[in-house]
Amino acid sequence: AKPLFVGNWKMNGFRANLTEILNVEESIAKTPFHGDVVICPPATLAALAVDALKKSVIQIGGQDCHAEEAGAFTGDISAEKWKDLGAGYVIVGHSERRAYYQEDNKAVKAKSKAVLRAGLVPIICIGESLEERKAGKTLEIISAQIDGCIPDEAQSAPIAVGYEPVWAIGSGLTPTLEEISEAHKVIREALHKKIGDKADLTPIVYGGSLKPSNAKEILAILGVDGGLVGGASLKAVDFLEIIRACD
Ligand code: 13P
Repeated sequence: AKPLFVGNWKMNGFRANLTEILNVEESIAKTPFHGDVVICPPATLAALAVDALKKSVIQIGGQDCHAEEAGAFTGDISAEKWKDLGAGYVIVGHSERRAYYQEDNKAVKAKSKAVLRAGLVPIICIGESLEERKAGKTLEIISAQIDGCIPDEAQSAPIAVGYEPVWAIGSGLTPTLEEISEAHKVIREALHKKIGDKADLTPIVYGGSLKPSNAKEILAILGVDGGLVGGASLKAVDFLEIIRACD
C-alpha cells in the first residue's frame, strides 16, 4: 500500500504552532514524498490550517467525529463538518477515545461508516492493552477489533488502519520488530476477510512512541505502510525526519 503518515496532535498546540504545519508543507513541496501526509491538529487549529496551506501536498484531518450528520450534539463535530472544512481524513477509534469516552468497536464502526458517508478516509485505530498483551491475547484482540470496526462500505471506498498498542502510546516503549511484523500480518489477514483484495491497498500504519530514532527500523518492516505519530508530530523537524525515514 502507498505510504501514509499521520500526525495526531491530540489536545496540543495553539495558533502559534501553525508554523509547524506550514513547515511540513514547505518541506514536502520542496522535496516531494511518495506517500500521503496528514496532520490532525485540534479542531480549532484545523480550520485555520486548511486556510493557511497553500499547496496541496499535505492534508488536514480530524481526530474524531460524531456518527450522525448533524443535530443536537453539543461539542461534537460530524464527518460532514470535516468534509465541509476541506479535511481529507478522520481518525476514529483512537485508544484515548476508547478509554476516556467508552467507545467500543460498535461505536467505532458507526463513526467509520460516517466518515465514508461523508466521502473522507477513516483512519481506524486498533491495538491491544498491556494486560491483553501479557495474557497472550494480542492477535486475537486485534483481529476482533478489525472484525468489529470495519464497515461493509469499506469494500468500495478507501480506509486506513492504525495499529497502536495502547501501552506503547506516549510511553517510550515499542513492541519488538517481530511483534509489530506479526501484528500487521494478522491485521492484513483479518482485513482480507472483510474487504477482500482491497486489503492489499489499505495502508496499515504503526503508532506508539514512533520517533526519529526508531523510525527507520520500524518503517522497514514488511507490512508497515507508514506511521501514526503523536508527540513527535508536534515539531515539523521530528515529524519530517520520521516521514523521510520511509524511503
Ligand atoms: P505517541 O507518538 O506520542 O506515542 O502517540 C501515538 C498516538 O497515539 C498517535 O495517535
